[in-house]
Amino acid sequence: MMIKNNDKFRQRRPGDMQRELSSRCISGRPFQHVSGSGVADDAVRPSVEGSSVDPVRLEPAGFPDEVFDYTALARQGLPAAGGKPAVVAIIGAGASGLLAAMELLRAGHYPVVFEASERIGGRLYTVREFDDPKVYAEMGSMRVPPVHRTLMHYLDLFNIPTRRFPNPNNVKTCYYINGKKEFGSPDNQLPWVEALLNRWEAAILPFAERMQALWNDPEARTNEWAKIRERYGRMSFRDFLKDQSWTIDEIELFAAVGFGVGGYGPLYGISFLEILRINLCRWDDDQREIVGGNDLLAHGLHEHKVKARDGEFYSLKDLGLVNTFTPVTHIDRDDEGRLLLSTRQGDTFLADAVIVTAQTSAIQMELNIRRDLLNHKQWRAIWNSHHMSSGKIFLETTTAFWKEPGSEITTTISDLPIRGTYLFDFEDTDGGLICISYTWEDDSRKWHASDIEERAEKSIEMLEEIYGVNSIRPHVVTAYGFSWEEMPGYRGAFRQYYPDQHHYYEALAQPSNNIWFAGDGVSYAAGWIEGALRSGLRAANEIAIKFQL
Ligand SMILES: Cc1cc2nc3c(=O)[nH]c(=O)nc-3n(C[C@H](O)[C@H](O)[C@H](O)COP(=O)(O)OP(=O)(O)OC[C@H]3O[C@@H](n4cnc5c(N)ncnc54)[C@H](O)[C@@H]3O)c2cc1C
Repeated sequence: MMIKNNDKFRQRRPGDMQRELSSRCISGRPFQHVSGSGVADDAVRPSVEGSSVDPVRLEPAGFPDEVFDYTALARQGLPAAGGKPAVVAIIGAGASGLLAAMELLRAGHYPVVFEASERIGGRLYTVREFDDPKVYAEMGSMRVPPVHRTLMHYLDLFNIPTRRFPNPNNVKTCYYINGKKEFGSPDNQLPWVEALLNRWEAAILPFAERMQALWNDPEARTNEWAKIRERYGRMSFRDFLKDQSWTIDEIELFAAVGFGVGGYGPLYGISFLEILRINLCRWDDDQREIVGGNDLLAHGLHEHKVKARDGEFYSLKDLGLVNTFTPVTHIDRDDEGRLLLSTRQGDTFLADAVIVTAQTSAIQMELNIRRDLLNHKQWRAIWNSHHMSSGKIFLETTTAFWKEPGSEITTTISDLPIRGTYLFDFEDTDGGLICISYTWEDDSRKWHASDIEERAEKSIEMLEEIYGVNSIRPHVVTAYGFSWEEMPGYRGAFRQYYPDQHHYYEALAQPSNNIWFAGDGVSYAAGWIEGALRSGLRAANEIAIKFQL
């Protein structure tokens, strides 16, 4: 097969890197503006019984599934490359791909990142296209718990601060259920919300107690979790609640309210283990936001200087090792066993190892991997892993008007199609931002048939049903909307396994013919940046070990 040369690779790079990479190469708007008006009351609320429960707090030094200390690896670095560095092609410039590339460069290898889109960051997607340049919106990740230590390590390394995220129950929260508006706050919770919370805490308490007894013994912990997985891995979240004798009314109310991240209903079909893991490790508690935007993490990884083989300090950016607009369409193998990547532009590149970080739904539709390079279990994981749908609608506002005295507008959870509403203000500007609708699964897909104008109109009408006619509309400057399942390169928001799908993780976490899979979906913390980072480190570490000579 012919190898062509790309201008992007004609650049000064240290030592043998330039010669090696040159010998391997080759020559590759989701939203619109709109300009930017409701009431109901009194309905019967199902009664919920539940007395106060003291939750068990597990020291979150690791996940129940795995004992590996990723922060230690991040601090120490991967095993250093020997005399023959590996050329590693990384598909995707999201959190996992960029981290793998940065750490491989630091270890003395030659990573090259191929990114399909025009930007880096993937689902670290901070939109900065508002009328007010100081206003920004998170289309993907938006809140992180401090117990996500790998993430916190890199945020510290890049001097990126976090601050409290206005999560439901973290701040004053409006519950609008069955047409009735009520407010709760952390120190003055609504009795029925408190009761529901206690009911849930009581349901997971036995698991937390089982794990607490052996949490600090890694082997016993993973063994105990394996038993829980064996017993509950075939159960959906809804199955579990039914198993706990929750009434239909309790299940429906919990669906609308949930805890921490908003309504749990869209998660009822997924495996109970995905929910249990989050709750055992208390990833829903104490949410933080990344000040300045989640994409700062991507830029940190791209621009952080590490010591390269020649003793000088370079970043991935300095060396031009991240190439946007280069969608990889094929992975093949040459006669010498090296992996051959082709891009949509018709360019080709030879790599010793490949890390694929694209979500499996996108791999299936957009990346043609030669069939015999992967085993059947891996193919099944690619074809069948479940990804959540998710959409957001944002309104840029002239001011953070909800902060004015007398305003009752606040973080809102409702059973209307908008579901979760969050309010943001920014440093150095009066401008505000409302994430008027954050939805998952069916709730997200309902919005697909509407263009952005209609999404904005309908969502404003719904929020004004709660807060009154003209309580929102006069303040709106622009609207943006986004659904991840509609986006090429993603075709879904984040992985959450259905019952019985957990073995897909083991299939994809194993390399095959020097192809490694990483990213959100190949982690025990799917739906969290932490999981993506860990997966990137894991793949990079295994490659560094294999190509150490
Ligand atoms: C709506 C939503 C809300 C979220 N909320 C949170 C949250 O609050 N807290 C949290 O911690 N996490 C959250 N997450 C999860 C977090 O954003 C992800 O876990 C993480 O960003 C995933 O990083 P990644 O590297 O695995 O994948 P990605 O970021 O998806 O990176 C993969 C990259 O591969 C590229 N690509 C795809 N196909 C190809 C190809 N053929 N060739 C080249 N490039 C390709 C894509 O363009 C993309 O840039 C959320 C995600 C979503 C979608």
